[in-house]
Amino acid sequence: MTVTDAASGTTTTTGRPWASEALHRADPQLADLLAAEAERRAETVQLLAGENLTSPAVLAALGGPLIDKYAEGYPGRRHHTGCALADAAELLAIDRARELFAAPHANVQPRSATSAMLAAYAALLRPGDGVLAMSLEHGGHLSCGSRANFSGRWFAFTGYGVREDDGLIDLDQVRELAHRVRPKAIVAGSISHPRHPDWAAFREIADEVDAYLIASVAQTTGLIAAGAAPSPVPYADVTVAATHKLLRGPRGGLLLSTAELAERIDRAVFPFSQGGAAMNEVAGKAVAFAQAATPDYREYARRTVAGARVLAEGLAQVGMRPLTGGTDTHLVTADVRPLGVTGAEAERRCAAAGLLLGKSALPYDSAPPSEGSGIRLGTGTVTTQGMGERELAEIAGLIGRLLAGDAVASVGARVRELALAFADQR
Ligand SMILES: *Cc1c(COP(=O)(O)O)cnc(C)c1O
Repeated sequence: MTVTDAASGTTTTTGRPWASEALHRADPQLADLLAAEAERRAETVQLLAGENLTSPAVLAALGGPLIDKYAEGYPGRRHHTGCALADAAELLAIDRARELFAAPHANVQPRSATSAMLAAYAALLRPGDGVLAMSLEHGGHLSCGSRANFSGRWFAFTGYGVREDDGLIDLDQVRELAHRVRPKAIVAGSISHPRHPDWAAFREIADEVDAYLIASVAQTTGLIAAGAAPSPVPYADVTVAATHKLLRGPRGGLLLSTAELAERIDRAVFPFSQGGAAMNEVAGKAVAFAQAATPDYREYARRTVAGARVLAEGLAQVGMRPLTGGTDTHLVTADVRPLGVTGAEAERRCAAAGLLLGKSALPYDSAPPSEGSGIRLGTGTVTTQGMGERELAEIAGLIGRLLAGDAVASVGARVRELALAFADQR
């Protein structure tokens, strides 16, 4: 929204660009859609694991003048002129990322975590090389060998998984597969596994077979920044991170690496897999890194994990089975079969009551992936909104009632009340 100060006549823009007069005048149709989206968000409880609420300061940087700057290349070596201030902004982002993650090298240009994975592979591998990564059925991301993704087409993936009894990563299997297939790279990290990889063990296995270790930690980037999760940076050759999700920055990727790999990582981003950097996103990342270095953010990360533990316990109390028995992160993946529903049905029932969570296939799942036997939830957004353990315990109970067939209307009314009480004030 643009606010005009009556006395001085100066105008300022708040962190609500969708509410600006300019947008309403130029495109009322789209402006109405965005207003409705803001309303939808305010009236629902958002538990999708990869989402969060970007801070107003980051939104301001995203909408700032660097959005128009063409800046192919890197600070001090651009293909375009007029980049001195863009260089300064990118150096700020790089320095802050290096300090926040204690990383020798940072590349802040990847447009997404998937494009950062592409660059990591491109820096280390040749087409046809072998990669050992968590199998998609057990929680690996598409970029870990899906045939629908570049990774599965260009590299030879072998998948490792979790044990059926305790749901934990089977490091003996990882070691055995590594020695058998001799991959050029090993990837650790998942979209749904709620425990931290044993980074030292993965490093040891990678060293035994002379493979690179890639840490794929888009889900937990914010926890690592806050010291609420063990950092892969001292162990991995390349760490692939996300600046949205828990970090609350712009939608984007981040690559951290050893000094030796710096040049190869940079070339794998530009010019190999991207053109000019989105300098407004780079600026937004700089802001997010500064915010993530504050005591407030560390407290946010701590509360996010504490809330997820309460959520996991609450879901167990109403009959679901949290994978691995709980969580070390913001993520809870739970088996809903004991309540007699599929993941897809659970997602539908909760959505009808304004509770947004994701269906999820489980390891050793016999249901088709489009249905899934589980749900996946995250506490990043609700914690940003100020909800805590009390609210998350209540939310677990509400989910239990919905899955047990309780009236959507009565649960929905309470969900709406909760959502509005903690609605984003931007
Ligand atoms: C979210 C996520 C991705 C994909 O991130 P995008 O920015 O949407 O490409 C990749 N890998 C992991 C482990 C993730 O959690």
